[in-house]
Amino acid sequence: MAYQTINPYTNKLVKTYPDATTEEVETAISTGNALYNKWRAESVNSRAATLHKIADLLRENEDELARIATTDMGKLYAESKDEVELSASIADYYADHGSEMLKPTPISSRNTGDAEIFHQSTGVLMLVEPWNFPYYQIMRVFAPNFMVGNPMLLKHASNTPGSAAAFEKIVRDAGAPDGSLTNLFVSYDQVASIIADSRVQGVALTGSKRGGQSVAEIAGKNLKKNSMELGGSDAFIVLSDADIDTAVDLAWRVRIYNAGQVCTSAKRFIVADNLYDEFLKKLKANFEKLVPGDPMDPKTTIAPMNSKRAKEKLQGQIDKAVTGGAKIYYGNEPIDLPGQFLQPTILTDIDKDNPEFYDEMFGPVAQVFKVSSDEEAIELANDSELGLGGIVVSEDVQHGKHIAEQIETGMVFVNSFLVSLPELPFGGVKGSGYGREMSQLGLTAFTNDKLIVTA
Ligand code: NDP
Repeated sequence: MAYQTINPYTNKLVKTYPDATTEEVETAISTGNALYNKWRAESVNSRAATLHKIADLLRENEDELARIATTDMGKLYAESKDEVELSASIADYYADHGSEMLKPTPISSRNTGDAEIFHQSTGVLMLVEPWNFPYYQIMRVFAPNFMVGNPMLLKHASNTPGSAAAFEKIVRDAGAPDGSLTNLFVSYDQVASIIADSRVQGVALTGSKRGGQSVAEIAGKNLKKNSMELGGSDAFIVLSDADIDTAVDLAWRVRIYNAGQVCTSAKRFIVADNLYDEFLKKLKANFEKLVPGDPMDPKTTIAPMNSKRAKEKLQGQIDKAVTGGAKIYYGNEPIDLPGQFLQPTILTDIDKDNPEFYDEMFGPVAQVFKVSSDEEAIELANDSELGLGGIVVSEDVQHGKHIAEQIETGMVFVNSFLVSLPELPFGGVKGSGYGREMSQLGLTAFTNDKLIVTA
């Protein structure tokens, strides 16, 4: 297993990291387990100051952390900075509210006396995280579970080891005890043996369906609690009463952010027939303005994809879609730069029998569909094996909300970007996985919700 940073803009190998040894894995588990037992005797609130310190250090080191993330996986420097700030805000939120949110929940019960549910820690967790938001993905699980008192082991994506090491260092520098978060450059087999270890109580994975299936199988076999945040092929529904400029302004931004490599970026644009032609024309006009280049340069507006493998995969999907009858409305031309660039592309005429109809396109490709009614829009949106998020655009908020209620996903936003905030739950249904991260739901994802009744 090679953990390496290969800068996707220059294609140069920046650094290779050593694989974790069996001894390092054993030390990490035993240190985490010892910390779990120590933390059980301490109050939840005793960890709040350290979590605030982690937020402070993230902000103080924002420029350097952003540079590391951009070097690892190629996103625009400004987007990397936004990600560091979002991660800090999550840490602050759980430091401020975690203790209150973890207070016992009383239940009114007829005969038994006083019944309460205590939300207690359960033990060491394994975190398996992807490269697309290399700090925020960790923080979504780390901040709530740090407050709960569950120590964590981290297996980050093999192409973002710099970010993994930098996050671990921030946690250490903030004074968090050894074992709070241990980054390990482990293989899949080592991840499997960690999950099987009796001192490890759960696993949280964000990644692909394939990765989720493998890890969930191991977790299931070992009866370990797990949460799976997997891919999405989110619908962006433009209703017939939408304002076209509002719709297009949202559409191009959500599709291009992070070079289109966001699980919740809108990927299928489902547009009412009265707005379809104008939508395409205006979406193209915005895509045409995008400037590829060095992601560290503020003038660059479209970043390279994270790796050669990712770009080749997406290019293959476009080719397959076209062979299957799809039309290229815009894009799919080579970009004369060394990095892993894929020109933002608009595909139309993707029929149900197209081999790409059900595939998630994880990059700057918009699939645009025309529908003649709300019912058709809902049916098309729900005709997916995935169910993560979605966006509905309408001038009539109640109309938009009514449609949103009928979409089979974990999150739907009306007239807004699908934003991730510390207080909002994040997660999906169907092939997009199960469980929620953040909010009360995420905070208690790996707690022992213990009933205590006093007669
Ligand atoms: P992968 O599943 O390949 O990788 C994600 C993480 O899982 C990486 O750390 C990877 O390690 C690890 N992993 C994969 N298979 C195994 C295994 N068998 N055992 C242990 N660890 C494993 O995902 P991609 O890199 O392809 O990421 C893109 C996918 O993630 C997209 O489908 C996207 O939609 C989804 N995603 C979902 C999000 C969500 O919140 N729901 C957010 C972001 C992305 P390694 O790198 O070493 O292979």
